[in-house]
Amino acid sequence: MEIPKEIKGYCKKCKKHTLLKLKAYKPRKARANSKGTRKNIEKHKSGYGGKAKLIATVKKQNKKPVFMAECSECKGKQYFVIPKKMKKVEFKGQH
Ligand SMILES: [Zn+2]
Repeated sequence: MEIPKEIKGYCKKCKKHTLLKLKAYKPRKARANSKGTRKNIEKHKSGYGGKAKLIATVKKQNKKPVFMAECSECKGKQYFVIPKKMKKVEFKGQH
């Protein structure tokens, strides 16, 4: 599905609707000492040999697209999710 690069949406900082520029979301690197990371390492180390059980995973075909939205007025950035599952996401006029 094609999505326009600029969407009118609510900005939490300005507390009103403004033009939001959409950019692809990139997850940052996980912190080394966060609780989730420590728990995951512990899980893999435990037991003789220390290996977590492999669970058969099914890759999801359709996901809700996630973006970073930049406000055109205050330049604040926020997480932006389109609440609909899509197979393929493209910005309009990008081929
Ligand atoms: Zn704003």
